[in-house]
Amino acid sequence: MHSKLSVAAAILAAALACGCGAATRPADPPADASGTASAASGAVVPAGSQSSPGNSAPSPSPPAPPLAGRVIGIDPGHNGGNFSDPGYIDQLIWNGRASETCDTTGTEAASGFTEASFNFDVATDLRADLIAAGATVVMTRQDNTGVGPCVTTRAQIINSAHADVAIDIHADGGPTWGRGFTVLEPVADGPNDAVISSSAQFGADVRAALLQDTSMPKSNYDGVDGLISRDDLAGLNLTTVPKVIVECGNMPNATDAGLLVSGAFQQGLARAFTAAIMVFLLGQPG
Ligand SMILES: [Zn+2]
Repeated sequence: MHSKLSVAAAILAAALACGCGAATRPADPPADASGTASAASGAVVPAGSQSSPGNSAPSPSPPAPPLAGRVIGIDPGHNGGNFSDPGYIDQLIWNGRASETCDTTGTEAASGFTEASFNFDVATDLRADLIAAGATVVMTRQDNTGVGPCVTTRAQIINSAHADVAIDIHADGGPTWGRGFTVLEPVADGPNDAVISSSAQFGADVRAALLQDTSMPKSNYDGVDGLISRDDLAGLNLTTVPKVIVECGNMPNATDAGLLVSGAFQQGLARAFTAAIMVFLLGQPG
């Protein structure tokens, strides 16, 4: 039932098992040129040196973790301090097609649990999972107490980091009867032209992972089959890296809210996103 996670686990297992050939080259000379020259000339080396003759086998390097060298962008939507500074978040910015506000406060559950908190909680879990898998993670905000940054700046932070893929984490404020997640994908507008198809692929990976690895259903009130194209959001209009926005559930709905406030469910979302990122970046079948 957790086939996506199983794929990710299989990739990890394969990486751990392969050893990447290091163990098959115990007699290789040191790659460093001076070390090779030293050994070839019979120069005196300090006792106990790793490069002394007869003890020249290099220590096998541990296998690289699966996301080593990859850069992942995470944008936890809104910010906990946005409520306190409407003058800042209401300023108009250009989202690539039209004017919109710098940011909003986001929605909240009936209990008062805010979307900003939810977004940051999931982002923090996801960051930990990705770092454990070897990735470099760039987040657009570092806490849930500040204001902003504007959605344009968030896009720029991830673009400037040249992320291999990015995910914007949100929860929706839909009708109280509505349930489920929606994956929002970009529409070509110039700046994002080069990442439309890759973002759609990533969106499909995210959708599949959410369906297989979490109990959140596809939205029954937004999009089609859990997906929707949006041309009115800076985060998608301005992106130059493959990116989707995920509305992880509908906070005004009591059933969804019961899941979204759960730390265990948030961690499950992070694991699903990690699995989707690994499928997307490592070329495994979706
Ligand atoms: Zn939001």
